[in-house]
Amino acid sequence: MATGKINVSVENIFPLIKKFLYSDHEIFLRELISNATDATLKLKHLTDIGETDVKYGDPVIEVKIDKEGKKLHVIDQGVGMTKEEVEKYINEVAFSGAEEFLEKYKDSAQDSGIIGHFGLGFYSAFMVANKVEILTKSYKDEPAAHWVCEGTTEFTLEDADKKEHGTEIILHINDDEKEFLEENRIQELLTKYNKFMPIPIKFGTREETLPLPEDAPEDAKPETKTVDNIINNPSPAWTKQPTDLKDEDYKGFYRELYPMQFEEPLFHIHLNVDYPFNLTGILYFPKMTQDMNIQKDKIQLYQNQVFVTDNVEGIVPEFLTMLRGVIDSPDIPLNVSRSYLQADGAVKKISSYITRKVADKLKSLFNNNREDFEQKWNDIKIVIEYGMLSEDKFYEKAQKFALYPTVDNEYYTFDELQEKIKDNQTDKDGKLVVLYASNQDEQHSYIEAAKAKGYKVLLLDSPIVSHLLQKMEGEKENTSFVRVDSDQVDNLIKKDEEKVSKLSDEEKEKLKEDFEKVIPKEKYTVQMEAMDSDAAPLLITQPEFMRRMKE
Ligand code: ADP
Ligand code: MG
Repeated sequence: MATGKINVSVENIFPLIKKFLYSDHEIFLRELISNATDATLKLKHLTDIGETDVKYGDPVIEVKIDKEGKKLHVIDQGVGMTKEEVEKYINEVAFSGAEEFLEKYKDSAQDSGIIGHFGLGFYSAFMVANKVEILTKSYKDEPAAHWVCEGTTEFTLEDADKKEHGTEIILHINDDEKEFLEENRIQELLTKYNKFMPIPIKFGTREETLPLPEDAPEDAKPETKTVDNIINNPSPAWTKQPTDLKDEDYKGFYRELYPMQFEEPLFHIHLNVDYPFNLTGILYFPKMTQDMNIQKDKIQLYQNQVFVTDNVEGIVPEFLTMLRGVIDSPDIPLNVSRSYLQADGAVKKISSYITRKVADKLKSLFNNNREDFEQKWNDIKIVIEYGMLSEDKFYEKAQKFALYPTVDNEYYTFDELQEKIKDNQTDKDGKLVVLYASNQDEQHSYIEAAKAKGYKVLLLDSPIVSHLLQKMEGEKENTSFVRVDSDQVDNLIKKDEEKVSKLSDEEKEKLKEDFEKVIPKEKYTVQMEAMDSDAAPLLITQPEFMRRMKE
């Protein structure tokens, strides 16, 4: 048996690991399952390229609790490690990785950001265990190895007699971390972090009811069978090609993500890009309901199908945090604080990519089925209006699909609205005046009065609309937004009233003379003052005294 000393420069790193991010102790399980997944996928790769004759088969990763022995096992059928590899990868590389990580971040452990989600790797096991064993056999034809470490810098490493390739990590759980020996707690962690990992994860067994054969007698009892309890879906929708998915599949995945959410999503956006960064995911516009839980059902961030966080602040633009779904990107740096995140180039690109995709989707929904889009407007307007207010790029794109509903449920884009009212609703400077109501009941009489004059009245009642109107007035120089109960409404001008004739003064004079030739001058007057509109180029009036004379 070999014993050794892990080469450390930081004296007693283990107490530090145990203290590190107290509330995040639970991540040890995700770290170990990530390693098991990596090892399994490595073996798959090696068999795929013909590096080894070892059969890949249908490997699973197993998590087992031994309550009496106070042990937790994580077992994989991956590449395994030789003794030399344990020396190298566990004693040197992994340890120095953990050491470096703690050195760098021990002072910023209070940062509420994503820091601490990744980085400790294998050594995070010591957050919950006072002793850790590794029993491992490489896929190469070499003896198995057994490594034991009791949370000090000393370890032992010896040959073992494990037959199958793969690795078993055995954690001797601390007395004050007993929760990790509870089935419910582990099940909860597996569902939280590993629900969509790419290798099936087995946690115990469950009874499955078999379907009755067709010719079974009436009183036959269905048989049950004990099957592996697989806690994950190894190929979730976002890892597939959009062309391979139907609308039903997207809805099914939504239910998988949010099992307690009974409303169906309004529509989805499938994200899929591999240059200049790698990102996949599916975003959903939820139906806005009274009882929706914005705090709980949020966008989830994954890295290679491992759950990282549902706090996507800084990564997804703020106006889209009301959406739901998944984004998965290995390119989002996670060991850093949020202020760093916001300045990171890749993250900025990701954020603007997401904004663009959302805008494109909205535009295509609008173009492809306008009626449906109008029906959904009430549910989606808050996100769109907030986006227009906060992101200039989105504001520009939204010109094509942002709708302005009237009090009579007509929906116009701004361009359409402008076309409708341009001849009827301007002020004395020729500025377009858009009338709107913010409360249909309170402003009812004003609305009716404006409608009676032939004006269009928008109904803009969302809480941020006043800010948005301010922005629009800034952007659209020739437009002002006026609330329907303002006294400015009385000063609106119809274009007809101020239309200028296309005729020159000489032409008008000529026209007048022509008319005077054919109508008796004594009885009628041809008026020039009215000749400033082509709709009524001139006015022929009978003088008041002439009219009276006839009576
Ligand atoms: P990382 O996963 O980021 O490389 P870890 O500290 O989690 O860092 O693991 C260190 C190394 O130990 C891994 O890179 C791998 O070589 C080895 N290792 C850990 N767990 C396993 C396992 N279950 N099977 C094979 N090798 C493993
Ligand atoms: Mg790891």
